[in-house]
Amino acid sequence: MNAIIDELRAICPISTTGADLAEHARDWWPLAMRWALQAQVPQLPSVVATPSTTDEVRRIVLACARHDTPLTVTAGRSGVSGASVPLFGGVVLDTTHLRGVVSVDRTSGIVEVLPGTFGPDLERAVNEHGLTVGHFPQSFDISTVGGWVACHGAGQFSTRYGKIHDMVVGLEVVLADGSVIRTGGAPAAAHGPDVSAMFIGSEGTLGVVTRVWLRAHEVAPVRRKAAYFFASFADGVAAMREAIRAHATPAVLRLYDAIEAQRSHGGDGSNSTLIVLDDGEPEIVAATLAVVDRCALAHGAVRAPDERVDHWLAHRNDTSGLQALTKKGFVIDTMEVAAPWSKLTSVYTNVVAATSAVSGARSVSAHVSHSYLDGACIYFTFVGQLSSRDITDATTAEHERLYLAMWNAAQRAALTAGANLAHHHGVGLNRGRFMREAMGDAFNVVMALKQALDPRDIFNPGKLGLPTRRGAMPWSGSST
Ligand SMILES: Cc1cc2nc3c(=O)[nH]c(=O)nc-3n(C[C@H](O)[C@H](O)[C@H](O)COP(=O)(O)OP(=O)(O)OC[C@H]3O[C@@H](n4cnc5c(N)ncnc54)[C@H](O)[C@@H]3O)c2cc1C
Repeated sequence: MNAIIDELRAICPISTTGADLAEHARDWWPLAMRWALQAQVPQLPSVVATPSTTDEVRRIVLACARHDTPLTVTAGRSGVSGASVPLFGGVVLDTTHLRGVVSVDRTSGIVEVLPGTFGPDLERAVNEHGLTVGHFPQSFDISTVGGWVACHGAGQFSTRYGKIHDMVVGLEVVLADGSVIRTGGAPAAAHGPDVSAMFIGSEGTLGVVTRVWLRAHEVAPVRRKAAYFFASFADGVAAMREAIRAHATPAVLRLYDAIEAQRSHGGDGSNSTLIVLDDGEPEIVAATLAVVDRCALAHGAVRAPDERVDHWLAHRNDTSGLQALTKKGFVIDTMEVAAPWSKLTSVYTNVVAATSAVSGARSVSAHVSHSYLDGACIYFTFVGQLSSRDITDATTAEHERLYLAMWNAAQRAALTAGANLAHHHGVGLNRGRFMREAMGDAFNVVMALKQALDPRDIFNPGKLGLPTRRGAMPWSGSST
């Protein structure tokens, strides 16, 4: 590795300190966090490189290719699936020095931004032009534009502003052979397959995204809110479906089952709660909320105080409750999948039943978080408890066993009931074992793309469930 480290030193700032290497060997995936706490990461990278130009990225990629060294891109490291864990060591390319808004086309509402730009910095810059990108993931403060693109993310206001693929106008990408391509451009091109789409969700396995052009919207003049209680989760889902099918698409439309409604909003745990928030022109917002109101009442809802929405707004990015439970030794994770409306309630009941049946599972709950004309994302939280809460080697193995058992039960029940594998947390390391099962022979196309663009398996080997030529996987999970 010394030869490549010397080459990288001549290109951009690098670090080989133990603290930096360890820090860049984990993201927010619960197992990666736990491994990091116990100094048991699968493998440390040898060096962290922090380029600040596309040309520096290109030269790093070429150096890795010459030395046949794996290259893992890391950004905010807020991923929750282990996507940026450098499984086979090598070089970590940290994008956070590739940051800032480069230009704003105010007339078209297009912002050109570097990939390591964090959410607040992007919004502040476009707000100065009276614009918003409208992408507000719960991890807004700790995630980057490149990470949103690479993980196919969704923000909390996506029902109005769309998912990241609705926002991407084009990309600049450095490929494994060192070439730099520009995708997209003017809207709605019909010149063959959409090349931008091939990189959205590719999780650093096909290239390094070095520049992004995003659609931005006028900052909304009006915001309105509403909230409802439903006697059952199924009634709430029916009301949401009707509103969305009638093209009422408020920025936020979230339905919490009774457990989550009580956890977040208090109450006696007998009602599901729907919260609604819309931003836009006053006439459109008024019409949207009127349709939602009609659909909710038609399904037996009772109007709830708007404070429910204020409470959600104030606490929506606060994960301290789950973190406190983790520190107490509970085994916790979340799983987000999307399903057609016709299957959404059976996905809910089947996942809750299958996961609750796992020995050690204590609580399984869900909310519907993002809606589309044909279906919605349902976001589960599961909590398990070990008999002993001391962190020892034995409980670590036990922790992982319970964690995998809950994931396998939940994911398989979701797939069987007609949901997809992931809605916005991606695949990373955690879900690789389900890719063939979820995609069938369509996965062959993903493998062929990887083979065509990165035949020497330089980029993020071992992720997305892709086969790797770099040896046995240090961790692949157990699917049974
Ligand atoms: C508390 C919390 C809440 C979250 N809420 C949401 C949410 O509401 N919506 C949502 O979508 N996600 C959410 N996430 C997940 C996570 O924040 C997203 O996946 C985010 O997009 C990751 O961005 P990042 O900059 O942290 O990327 P990282 O975690 O550093 O990297 C993720 C993957 O992207 C690749 N990558 C990053 N940048 C590039 C690039 N420039 N070129 C090529 N590959 C790249 C990496 O190699 C890796 O495979 C949440 C996470 C946490 C911890």
